[in-house]
Amino acid sequence: MKRGLPKVDVEGLESFIPEAEIFAWLERTRDPAPERVRAIIRRSLDKNRLEPEEMATLINAEAPELVEEIFEGARELKKRIYGNRIVLFAPLYVGNECINRCEYCGFRADNPEVQRKTLLGDELVAEVEALQELGHKRLIMVYGEHPKYDAQYIRDTVREVYQARKGPGEIRRVNINAAPLDVEGFRIVKEAGIGTYQIFQETYHRETYEKVHPSGPKSNYLWRLHGLDRAMEAGIDDLGIGALLGLYDWRFETMALLYHTIHLEERFKVGPHTISFPRLEPAVGTDIGRITAQYAVPDQDFKRLVAILRLAVPYTGLILTCRESVALRNEMLSFGVSQIDGGSSIGVGSYAAADPDAFKKSQFVLGDNRSLDEIIRELCEAGFIPSFCTGCYRKGRTGEHFMEFAIPGFVKRFCTPNAVLTFLEYLNDYAEGETLEAGLRQIERELDAMPESRAKEELRERMGQVRAGARDLYF
Ligand code: SAM
Ligand code: SF4
Repeated sequence: MKRGLPKVDVEGLESFIPEAEIFAWLERTRDPAPERVRAIIRRSLDKNRLEPEEMATLINAEAPELVEEIFEGARELKKRIYGNRIVLFAPLYVGNECINRCEYCGFRADNPEVQRKTLLGDELVAEVEALQELGHKRLIMVYGEHPKYDAQYIRDTVREVYQARKGPGEIRRVNINAAPLDVEGFRIVKEAGIGTYQIFQETYHRETYEKVHPSGPKSNYLWRLHGLDRAMEAGIDDLGIGALLGLYDWRFETMALLYHTIHLEERFKVGPHTISFPRLEPAVGTDIGRITAQYAVPDQDFKRLVAILRLAVPYTGLILTCRESVALRNEMLSFGVSQIDGGSSIGVGSYAAADPDAFKKSQFVLGDNRSLDEIIRELCEAGFIPSFCTGCYRKGRTGEHFMEFAIPGFVKRFCTPNAVLTFLEYLNDYAEGETLEAGLRQIERELDAMPESRAKEELRERMGQVRAGARDLYF
């Protein structure tokens, strides 16, 4: 029997976002002494998660030289923890039907201008094959909130994606961005073997939240706020949080992301795997200018908040999407953004078929329209190593047993070798010309930087196996 959407039930739930306390920290830490700011940066460089007072201090450090020190701190932390690897993924929009009325989203129920579309079996497979032909291995599947897209539907569509195969193509990790479910619903989705379940709170400021989500299940702030707690209770311990920037003051939202992190750490002993910070983009039939009139986040503040998040939660992955421009994305990579999407297309069904009306089926407009091949070439030229690694969740390295990067030497042991192996696979199967050359050069640079050891020998052996046709090797 179809379950349909869960019943919104918030009995006994309370907010763990202490609004008054956040405002108080932001007020009390105004005009911080440079020495205090530097001490906080040092504590972060020792790989400590920062406390709210410390984050508020960094937010209030507005003098240009302090801002530059914060940027430099983020760059340094990135080098110490993350190395050169950048994980690549692509979004796959499964359906844009929706019963909510989020003011800012092109998919909202009362938007007459959006063309509704849900991928049916063959269409879904065609989309996945088109993504495989680009070389993608990791997807995030995105769903509107609609009785059609219940937990079983999400589970079944994820399974279809894992089963699809085109040539050497294969999707090895599916993350989800969908509405919050009840515990049983999360258990059902978990059966398909998902990676991260992402739910963005959009705005943590309750009054604003209620204003921009006037009806539908999403209008309930607490149901959404506790969504990831329910996912944890269902055994999904790989979670993504996020705030949609432009709805309310970014300073508040950045603090709230930290409070959400602390809440998950305290309750489940594991923080979020990733944090996202999308900025609002134009969407069909939607007056984004009006919505962001008061709180639009300028580029400079955006850079500050990303650098501050990097310092505040050293071990959490940061995701930056194609909503942002090429120039800004390139700059943010050096601040420790760890995952980006590439070659994205966000019209439902628009990977498989060029669609002149794609915009009308899309949720918003992209700022970076480079192909995956171009992004990869540019990443290599800038000294990064693209990674399609899916090793951790398949080896069970998630959740409480394992917080990514928290183990000393983890990046050296797993991430870099797995980046090399999965990238070599990509180069063999999909790249040519300048991209191939730039990619092979980057792999050589990574190897040169590794000290001779048994692990390096093993990596070389496996690289030989990949060249000889072996696939999906990882540590
Ligand atoms: N329907 C589910 C939900 O709302 O959680 C998941 C899919 S929704 C399409 C994914 C995310 O897109 C939202 O959480 C929101 O943060 C983001 N989004 C919505 N409208 C946007 C816009 N105009 N610009 C940028 N991001 C937007
Ligand atoms: Fe629907 Fe999600 Fe868009 Fe809101 S953000 S209208 S819930 S798809």
